[in-house]
Amino acid sequence: MIDLHTHTRYSDGALSPAALVRRAIANGVRCLAITDHDSVAAFQSQAEEPDTLEASDIDLQLIRGVELSSLWQGREIHILGLVIDPENETLNHLLTRQQQLRRERAARINEQLCQNGITGLEAYLDSLPCQAIGRNHIADFLITTGYARDKQQAFSKYLGNKGKYRTQPQWCTLAEAVEHIAQAGGISLVAHPERYRLSNGKLGLLLDDFQAAGGQGLEVSYSNLAPEQLYRLARLCQTRKMWASQGSDFHSPEATWMDVGKIRGLPPECREQAVWLHPSWPTSETASGQANRHPVSADAGTQSNP
Ligand code: AMP
Ligand code: MN
Ligand code: MN
Ligand code: MN
Repeated sequence: MIDLHTHTRYSDGALSPAALVRRAIANGVRCLAITDHDSVAAFQSQAEEPDTLEASDIDLQLIRGVELSSLWQGREIHILGLVIDPENETLNHLLTRQQQLRRERAARINEQLCQNGITGLEAYLDSLPCQAIGRNHIADFLITTGYARDKQQAFSKYLGNKGKYRTQPQWCTLAEAVEHIAQAGGISLVAHPERYRLSNGKLGLLLDDFQAAGGQGLEVSYSNLAPEQLYRLARLCQTRKMWASQGSDFHSPEATWMDVGKIRGLPPECREQAVWLHPSWPTSETASGQANRHPVSADAGTQSNP
């Protein structure tokens, strides 16, 4: 099984990189991309992490990735960068800026909460190990303080598109996201395209701009996707000659409906365009730097469907 979209505690995931890799292996994943929101700290943390992996534990190919928040026509679009160089300076400049925007957004929300007599968000966020503060963290705080009943309510009432504390940071543009991923040697893909609720026409325009900027792929299979949506994306990949990806968007073991590795494989329509067949895909590297014991093939992503 191949899973190319997951989060660690360096963004809004619950697990350390090592714990995520262990869970992925236990779930039968043999090629895993870590794609934190606006952060590549997961790949730079091995030395200081208390929870590290023994090289002998690692039997999967680890792909270095990132999920950038970007803006296109006033909408927030998430762009996945796969096979990036996490040390790339240009990309890291952008990540520093995006992380700052995230802190500023949290500070604005904190001010509003304080006006309503709710204090403690700043201290709560400071206590987290994450580098990219997200609305998920703020939702957790609102739940702990009893201000929201659960995540769903935290987003619908306060943090989501129609929420009371909605503020949209000036993320980089869609084209900037693609350019920075390219600078870092990576492949750009539009993450979870059906989650933006775009009409066919609008999605077409988004993909026109994305491809014109150098964007190469689409996430075709991911959690909570209806079969007709999966096939719409597979056909788009086919007609537009884009690379196809699959990923759970795993955040936490508690969300059992989007566990790492528990996704459908790519439909036959786009299987030959699987992103792991891309010429820049590494073939011989594992997380431990050992030769990959399981070379990836065209049908590799389909073997362990939930
Ligand atoms: P941010 O990166 O701060 O803009 O937050 C986006 C993240 O919030 C997504 O990656 C999800 O993890 C989470 N999220 C967004 N909308 C919802 C929702 N309605 N319910 C639960 N989590 C959500
Ligand atoms: Mn998230
Ligand atoms: Mn996303
Ligand atoms: Mn994600």
